[in-house]
Amino acid sequence: MRVRLGGRWFTVRESQRLNDCGQCEITRHRNGTVTREVRVATWQTEQDALDTWVHEAMHGIWPDKAEAEVASASAELSGLLWRLGYRRPD
Ligand SMILES: [Zn+2]
Repeated sequence: MRVRLGGRWFTVRESQRLNDCGQCEITRHRNGTVTREVRVATWQTEQDALDTWVHEAMHGIWPDKAEAEVASASAELSGLLWRLGYRRPD
């Protein structure tokens, strides 16, 4: 799926083979093109995956924001969403 994060298009997808919980990669190629991709590992609990989606999306929105700030803000926001009952449909 393609979504806009920080005004730029990203490809976002789940991955079974990811070692990390998630990744947000912005790659500048030699020919001048840029690819942007967010991947989230499928092996996490649903609550952890929600946090990872929010976390990696924040990296996409604010690529220069420090990791600690992203981690703190995404934990708070995903915690709120979880308490409000946001879950994946069955
Ligand atoms: Zn991070």
